[in-house]
Amino acid sequence: MNILVQKYGGTSVGSLEKIKEIGNKIKKKTEEGYKILVVLSAMGSATNDLITLARGISDKPSPREMDMLLATGEQTSISLLTMALIDQGCRAISYTGYQLGIETTALHQNAKIKKIDQQKILTAFEDHEVIVVAGFQGINEQRDYTTLGRGGSDTSAVALACILEARCEIYTDVEGIFTGDPRKLPKARKINRIGYQEMMELSSLGAGVIHPRAVELAGKYGIPVYVASTFSNSPGTMIEDKEEKMEEAVITGITSSLEDVQITIHHLDPRIDHLYNLFSHLGKENINVDMISQMVVNEDLMNVSFTLPKADKEKGRKLIEQWEGVNPHTKMDFNEDIAKISVVGLGMRSHSGVAAKVFQTMAKNHIPIKMVTTSEISISWVVEARYEKEAIRRIGEAFSLEEDNGEMDR
Ligand code: ADP
Ligand code: ASP
Ligand code: MG
Repeated sequence: MNILVQKYGGTSVGSLEKIKEIGNKIKKKTEEGYKILVVLSAMGSATNDLITLARGISDKPSPREMDMLLATGEQTSISLLTMALIDQGCRAISYTGYQLGIETTALHQNAKIKKIDQQKILTAFEDHEVIVVAGFQGINEQRDYTTLGRGGSDTSAVALACILEARCEIYTDVEGIFTGDPRKLPKARKINRIGYQEMMELSSLGAGVIHPRAVELAGKYGIPVYVASTFSNSPGTMIEDKEEKMEEAVITGITSSLEDVQITIHHLDPRIDHLYNLFSHLGKENINVDMISQMVVNEDLMNVSFTLPKADKEKGRKLIEQWEGVNPHTKMDFNEDIAKISVVGLGMRSHSGVAAKVFQTMAKNHIPIKMVTTSEISISWVVEARYEKEAIRRIGEAFSLEEDNGEMDR
């Protein structure tokens, strides 16, 4: 059986016309002899609209009921596409995550896929050319609906492709993976091939074009993932195993995130075990601290600054207030107007000078850097949110991330 997995994102199924157009495209592909497993997102802004509905009822909706609600978004789109396919004479059937036995961990709103009933899919393909599956959802051991985190249909698609050992194609509203988000770096260049590790780093640092767990899973199972535009025939990007080559650019891409808050705790006693105490206190409550800097002001005084996800701000504030390390002079600042900019590239492992060039570019353009962190293949730094786009464009120029700079194989 020649099975192909295709995933279509929210904007691609944003209207009935688009759903019909995708139906045509899928039908044509079946005529080439493929059995197609289609994974869909909810239509357009449907998931956001459902979240707004929930907030209209409760400030803190139950996570179980949120998943019950959000799972309906994808149920609408899969049934509509299947109707369109059936109207065109295609033998198609839709399934929710529940019906296909997509088993996940217990955690609502951020569940992870554990197991998928492969046999159920293969049996369904005996009588159907196309199976349309609701992305983003599964069921936990209690047989309650779970969802995989925002953008999680990519992960559903990759997981299904892994189970079926099939090619995975992700169709979206851009022509592939670019050196930066085309909305922020308008002259960004399309990347023809990118390795799992670089893509993983880019998406976990904010490149929303693909869910980080989808890339992680694809890398783990060695499944190539093709990302391309739903409504254009331009070649897209292949995410796959990729050896670093000598002529490789040092920086492959740039990304940014507005999802963090910077917390500064002023006037701490400069005790040597403070950082350990503070971060283990936050870690025990699953708060994921990202960048950290410590400033020893003098022998009696130090300040600590760090970032954490905006969603954890209030929880973080409470935990810090209860932390034994605060003294009567301690003061806390929260700054939400920050952008984390990151450059990513495997070439950084063998080239030096990237950080210097980043700092030079920021200095030349009078953009102050608030914090910095590095990994083996990335450098991230925080600037005031108002500088986000300018910082991206200046780095784009400095590292030749824009079109027409004559590079090969990118
Ligand atoms: P879908 O609904 O198809 O899942 P998403 O909105 O989740 O689509 O992802 C596509 C968007 O990702 C694009 O419209 C683009 O603005 C954004 N994006 C962010 N970083 C990149 C990048 N490096 N390359 C391409 N697109 C990117
Ligand atoms: N519909 C879900 C969301 O908007 C999942 C997805 O689109 O991937 O986050
Ligand atoms: Mg998406």
